[in-house]
Formats: sequence, structure tokens, C-alpha cells
Amino acid sequence: MLVVGITGTLGAGKGTVVEILKEKGFVHYSARDYLRKRVEALGLKADRDSFTAVANAIREKEGGDFIAKGLLEIAKKDGRNCIIESIRNVKEVEFLRKNCNFILLCIDADIKIRYQRIVLRNSETDKVSFRTFVENEQREFSSSDTNKQNLGLVMQMADYTLDNGKDIEFLHSQVEDVYNKLPITTRPSWDEYFLDVVKTVAKRATCNRGRSGCVIVKDKQILVTGYVGSPTGLPHCDDVGHLFKNVVNDNGEISTHCVRTVHAEQNAICQAAKKGIALQGATLYCTMTPCRTCAMMIINCGIQRVVCLNKYHSGQESEEMFQQAGIVLDFVSKDVLQY
Ligand SMILES: [Zn+2]
Ligand SMILES: [Zn+2]
Repeated sequence: MLVVGITGTLGAGKGTVVEILKEKGFVHYSARDYLRKRVEALGLKADRDSFTAVANAIREKEGGDFIAKGLLEIAKKDGRNCIIESIRNVKEVEFLRKNCNFILLCIDADIKIRYQRIVLRNSETDKVSFRTFVENEQREFSSSDTNKQNLGLVMQMADYTLDNGKDIEFLHSQVEDVYNKLPITTRPSWDEYFLDVVKTVAKRATCNRGRSGCVIVKDKQILVTGYVGSPTGLPHCDDVGHLFKNVVNDNGEISTHCVRTVHAEQNAICQAAKKGIALQGATLYCTMTPCRTCAMMIINCGIQRVVCLNKYHSGQESEEMFQQAGIVLDFVSKDVLQY
């Protein structure tokens, strides 16, 4: 998980940078929202003065990094790459650098341009004269107490500084440049991880009529694996050709199936039987909707969830049986496999 901290001067365009990063998949945590909850809990008006006063009061009591601590705790529970906005205190930067994969991004622009922006924005916390605007900023820049906000020092700690003194395209191109340098870690979910293993296992299959794989998992650990192939010691389709049998379907049509192989799901279940591994309560990951026979075996093994990469063209009966048996059936893709 990567945490991008956002700092910068008022009216610099921090919110715009947050929006651009959100489009790239980052989750957004706002220090302001976190503070607003604390300010409101104290029954105070949510203006800039209350925010600063309350923030400084809590900082004195709980330490200069209390917002960063609170937000990082929430972010870690979620686990996705995120933005923490906005960082205004040296201790917050120090805490985040120490406790997560952290990059600090600073957004700045000429003070006159920023003042024009906040006048246009016209929000409740922004209604000040240019003189007050400059004075407020100087105050935020100059505190020597490390528990208080010190924007000037925080901005100096940034890994990257963006200049939002021109148009939106200029800002976009800078965000893009920084984004391409970020140490983003994309960790697969558990389902993605086990399905990737299914794809690898399936490469060992020996019948090209359907190279399926299967992995059975419990408590996030792989118990057994299986791929479609002939019984041990018997010749493989890939070496001697398929062993076709005709099947008369309900509608009178005759279809041809290769019957030389044991299905991936069945092979995984056989491996469990061979090794004495209980499958009760497990999750089965496989290439496509299990066939009727496999579905019946899965139900009777006590497997509780089946996750398939794709739908099998005649998997309807299995889907109904799983539903009746109370087994959860999930598909990654609704694409129907025909063969
Ligand atoms: Zn075959
Ligand atoms: Zn099957």
C-alpha cells in the first residue's frame, strides 16, 4: 500500500490533484473531514479559525501527528493505495515516513494567483481580504512549536513539488510525471492470487479439449491442486489422441466428448483423498463452471464456495445444484467458454 500525503498552500489546487489521483484508483482520506468531526463534536463553528484552534489544542494533548495516526489506521484497514490530505505538521510527515510506504506531494503557486482562486471559490472559510490572506499564511509558515502547524517546514520535506501557476493541463502533466515515478505496489486480492495459481496449474493439463486447472483452499492456504489429465500411468491425449464418446443430449443432438481424462476438480479431490486432507468448508478455484459430476462431488466434499474464471457453456445444471446445496458460486468473467 502506498500513501501519498498532500501538502501545499491555500488555493494551490490540492483538491484538483486529489481528484486526478482518485481517478487513478487512490482512495482519499481528508484531514479536514477528520478534524471537522472533532470540531463538530465540540459544538464549534466549522470555520478556518476553529479548525486551526481545535487542531492545535488536540495536537498539544495527543501529539502533533494525531490526524496522521487516525487516518493511517483507517487506511491500513482498507489496504488500498491512498491519499492523506492535507499534511500541515512536521510530526505528521515523520510519523507517516516511519509507519508506511509514504510519498509527500506539495502543490504551490504564486500567492496572487491563489488569492484570486479562493475569491472565486467563495467558500465560508475563504472570505478574507488579500492582506488577511497573506498574514494567515505567514502565521502558518512561521510556528516554531513542532506540535503546531508549520506549512513552510512541511513543504520543504516534500518529495515532489508541483507548480500550479498555469492552466489545468500544466498541472495534469506534472501529476502524470510524478505518478509514473511513484513506488506503487499492486498486490492481488486473495481470489486473484489463487486464480493466478489455477492458470499456472492448468498449463500441466494433457487434453487440449479444455486445459483446466483447480486449486482448493482453506484459511487462505492451498490444500491441493489438480489439472485435467489421464489417470496416473495411462497415456495422455496430447501423446495418443483423444478418446471420444458420443453423448445424446436432451434435444436429440449428439455431441462428442473426450473421456480419457479425469477433470481438474476431480484430480484435486483425489489428491486430497490420497493425502488424507479434509475439504470441509474449503473454497474451490477453477477454470470454468464444474461439470455435473464434478459439481456433485464438490457438494459432497463439503466445499462451501466455488470461484470460476469463466462460465461453461452447459454449466446451468451445476449452477442450479450449487444453489440448492447452498454453495456460493462466483465468476470472475461472465464470458462463456465454448468447446
Ligand atoms: Zn482429450
Ligand atoms: Zn468435471
